[in-house]
Amino acid sequence: MELELEKLQLPGIEDRRPLVIAGPCSAETEEQVMETAKMLADRGIKIFRAGIWKPRTKPGGFEGIGVEGLAWLKAVKKETGMLVATEVATAKHVYEALKAGIDILWIGARTTANPFAVQEIADALKGVDVPVLVKNPVNPDLELWIGALERINGAGLKRLGAIHRGFSSYDKKLYRNLPQWHIPIELRRRIPALPILCDPSHIGGKRELVAPLCQQAMDLSFDGLIVESHCNPDCAWSDAKQQVTPDVLDYILNLLVIRTEKQTTENLAELRKQIDECDNNLIEELAKRMRIAREIGTYKKEHDMTILQTGRYNEILDKRGSQGALCGMDPEFIKKVFEAIHEESVRQQMEIINKN
Ligand code: PEP
Ligand code: MN
Repeated sequence: MELELEKLQLPGIEDRRPLVIAGPCSAETEEQVMETAKMLADRGIKIFRAGIWKPRTKPGGFEGIGVEGLAWLKAVKKETGMLVATEVATAKHVYEALKAGIDILWIGARTTANPFAVQEIADALKGVDVPVLVKNPVNPDLELWIGALERINGAGLKRLGAIHRGFSSYDKKLYRNLPQWHIPIELRRRIPALPILCDPSHIGGKRELVAPLCQQAMDLSFDGLIVESHCNPDCAWSDAKQQVTPDVLDYILNLLVIRTEKQTTENLAELRKQIDECDNNLIEELAKRMRIAREIGTYKKEHDMTILQTGRYNEILDKRGSQGALCGMDPEFIKKVFEAIHEESVRQQMEIINKN
């Protein structure tokens, strides 16, 4: 299904990279919300986020302040002029958030992974024109992510965006949620008109990772950032380790280097021509290699040999891996390339063997 999209058109917000949304993981108290909001507004932030209903991995944690907090967000809007955003996970959340005049809704990662829940939200949004940001599902499944966008779009909402917040993994070494950048990059290729934001806070899970992740997202042409910021991060009721103060956020944003895609200088054009040439040569060489592989296929057929000669295959992978390393490439990368080439050779030889 082709998405029918319109620009986000956020009132009072310039159409400029990065679009920044900031605020605490959770709305905790009226004071915490207002203090954080004022500090952010003073530092030029125009869109405030705060979770009102919090999906928690285990029961017993702080599950969000609930409806009561919506009034605080309303007060933030009134006092600071910022737009306000919150997460919705059920039809009731949608109803309450819209009633409170919330400007932007987002769908959380756990919800995106559940088509029943997304459909319920989509049905509740029918006929409403509000921007909706869809976080990636917890599992690295691009189709599930696009499916959620399609459901919301199918309900008539055209002002959509996506948020990359990383993917859950059993092994949490550096990141809380692995940033599998190729997935949002493929999303961009598939739906070029869809704005994509990065959530460095939930990817990193630690405040020291927020700055490098913001820069990485900008270098990968993301349109915006949604960052958790709290007036007193260490005392936050949820996600304390990954929240930064408004001052730190301001510092991070000021240090960001924003490169544009369109800066095609002559040198770059020349280098790109060279890359095109290399790629053409690679394809020609590959075609030549495949022709030889087919000849080998004919030979194997005539001599009743099996296609897969394991010894030879291992020898190729090992040799090419070390050759690659000598040329400054990761042997694992070279191995992957030759595995793919070998797979295609085998497919071509199978064609020869199966002929007649
Ligand atoms: C959040 O933004 O506070 C949140 C719960 O995020 P996610 O859905 O990405 O876990
Ligand atoms: Mn959070």
